[in-house]
Amino acid sequence: MSAAGNNQTGCVLPEDLRRYYLETMGVQLWQSVRAGGQPPDEVTTGPSADAQMTWQQLEQAVSACTGCELHATRTQAVFGVGSHNAELLIIGEAPGRDEDLQGEPFVGRAGQLLNAMLAAIGYRREQVYIANILKCRPPNNRDPRPEEAEACNAWLQRQIELIQPDVILGLGRIAAHNLLNTDKSLGALRTGQHSYAGIPLVVTYHPAYLLRKPIDKRKSWQDLKRVKTLLNRNGSAT
Ligand code: URA
Repeated sequence: MSAAGNNQTGCVLPEDLRRYYLETMGVQLWQSVRAGGQPPDEVTTGPSADAQMTWQQLEQAVSACTGCELHATRTQAVFGVGSHNAELLIIGEAPGRDEDLQGEPFVGRAGQLLNAMLAAIGYRREQVYIANILKCRPPNNRDPRPEEAEACNAWLQRQIELIQPDVILGLGRIAAHNLLNTDKSLGALRTGQHSYAGIPLVVTYHPAYLLRKPIDKRKSWQDLKRVKTLLNRNGSAT
């Protein structure tokens, strides 16, 4: 696990900066008259990732992967980005158009909202690791197919082994269903206590959904606070 007090550790945000980030996320804050403004409250039939694979070998293998049909339509595989020692691992669904073109996850509008969500709990994008269930873009952003997720699973497994995060945050229904091997509603999964490979897993709404349904940002903020609590409990964040 990440060592407490290393330079990856999240920071405590000054109150006005925290409020700024929350407002950027679109979370409306209550002003408490008494408290002065505290807010209310193994594996696959696809490609095999060798247990010894280094980051470099893994990234090369992913960029050359032909484990499912998506390799034929991708511009490039989108490996993942961030700190290799991250306390917090973010897992989304699959690259979209912008990500397929730029080779980095969450670079579009949803990515900007994700950055604001991370900032709200005191993390810069470079301090976490961001990956997806799929490394390649499904045509027209259709949902990933089970065989594609299965083929891609070994890559994500090896990333998790290498990072050894303290907490995983799954974004959206597709990530939650694949990580938890369930088809329960996201609403039901959000409030449950989960773990993945022994690592606490919190599930929240996908930022792209939150852009369409901003009213649910408040619920997502509750989920983010649970992430922060888990990280604090682990001695990771300050
Ligand atoms: N949505 C995702 O789930 N992942 C990305 O990388 C971008 C958008």
